Amino acid sequence: MYDILIKNGKIISGLGNPWYYGDIAIKNNKIIKIIRFSKEITAEKTINAEGLYIAPGFIDGHSHSDLFILTDPLAEQKIMQGITTENVGMDGMSVAPIDEMNIATWKKHLSGLDGNPEIEWNWRSFSDYLNVIAQAKPSDNITSYVGLGTIRLKVLGMTDREANDNEINKMKKVIIQSMEAGARGLSAGLVYPPGSYQTSSEIIELVRAIKEYNGIFNIHIRNESNHIIPSIKEIIEISKKSEIPAIVTHFKVMGRGNWGLSEEAINLIDNSRQEGVDITLEQYPYTACSTMLHAVIPPWYHANGSEKLIQNLIEDKELIKEDIQNRVDWENYPKISGWENIYVSSVENIDNKIFEGKSIKEIASMRGISDPVDAALELLIEEELAVGMIAYCTNEKEIINIMNHPSVSFITDGLLGGKPHPRVYGTFPRILGRYVRDKGIISLEEAIRKMTSLPAEKLRLRNKGKIEEGYDADITIFDLENILDRATYENPRQFPLGIEWVLVNGKVVVEKGRHTKAQPGKVIISR
Ligand SMILES: [Zn+2]
Repeated sequence: MYDILIKNGKIISGLGNPWYYGDIAIKNNKIIKIIRFSKEITAEKTINAEGLYIAPGFIDGHSHSDLFILTDPLAEQKIMQGITTENVGMDGMSVAPIDEMNIATWKKHLSGLDGNPEIEWNWRSFSDYLNVIAQAKPSDNITSYVGLGTIRLKVLGMTDREANDNEINKMKKVIIQSMEAGARGLSAGLVYPPGSYQTSSEIIELVRAIKEYNGIFNIHIRNESNHIIPSIKEIIEISKKSEIPAIVTHFKVMGRGNWGLSEEAINLIDNSRQEGVDITLEQYPYTACSTMLHAVIPPWYHANGSEKLIQNLIEDKELIKEDIQNRVDWENYPKISGWENIYVSSVENIDNKIFEGKSIKEIASMRGISDPVDAALELLIEEELAVGMIAYCTNEKEIINIMNHPSVSFITDGLLGGKPHPRVYGTFPRILGRYVRDKGIISLEEAIRKMTSLPAEKLRLRNKGKIEEGYDADITIFDLENILDRATYENPRQFPLGIEWVLVNGKVVVEKGRHTKAQPGKVIISR
């Protein structure tokens, strides 16, 4: 007797092969049998998947659920779009390991990104943090990188200078401890302080530490706009010298004048792959990016921590404005997108909630301020940095161009707070509805591969990402005819249509389009 039998559906293995008919028998948390006609098989529960596709559960390789998974373990935004495993600790900014003395500054620093839910940061080491997640009993599986910025904070604080040998050795030790606790690898966010203060040679030294742990290096590159080519070259160099596989996350080219450069960047990557450098890409399918609003302040004002940054915003206002206006030696979002294309996605203060979903330019006029930059700085001061943003930065032609690269896997990179970027609700259904069914940009099986076996392979998730006997029963069953990402920029908090059933570790988490409130997710630490 099996626990669950899924009948009459079209199976997509996750490997990119054409769908086939088969029935799937599940016992405990595993796929035990896949056969064409299952007349002899009995199970406690039978799912009729007639007219539906059965795929491995989707894997979100870039998630910002680091804190919200503790307060909202049902992970509805993810589960309802068919995601069964999400990977946190992104952009160099994991929430662990962390020392008591750094918690206040790091909390503030991350508040525009991961939100600021009411929880006590009662973990210190990376392994403590993973235990805290396990205790929260999430609905989906969680894995995590450890962030290079977090590691640097622990050893050097927010200081803007090169690390010395002694400090590099200390950082290596922390990396090794975190890898031993189960980190999948290292993440970097080279636009975000203090990660942005790290030189290539420091990064190469540190990345080498994960070699014997089968680790990977995932990078938000130093610049995704005017300096994208040297930024890609830097990653090629790091991967080559450290001999560690590198993933360029949310690959895109920002800024109208730069859009053609994606082709040149992809050529660079293809050529380096041919020479034996293991570099791959990740993508989300939207023309707007999303991050913390304090990314509009040049990195050199972030040195010495969040309190000091707020002080800088008050005392050095004119200098900061001048630098935003004139300097291009950093990822200058206002220059790339324009204040009219930068929107506030989340704030903390009730009085400021009216600004969620408004552009900085609109906010300026709502407040009777003539220069939008003043509105942005004011809001950051009032909110003590806890502001999320959405910025329109690329176009659909570019998205389509990048989507077809064989190394691209799909990610949400979704921030959860306020009026969020719709990608946190809609990414995977959007690929299937808009780019597979409606536009025919990518085949169904290839799209599923980029959501399942490809990210599983990158993250070294051994029994996930495929519909195969012996694999974990993480399964997403969907209706391709009706699949639709309903989340929009105007109204993002909407679950998609067409994700009919989701199983995590053999337990039903979505039944006929509804979350069952089951919490069978696990923290994955094995390699
Ligand atoms: Zn991110």
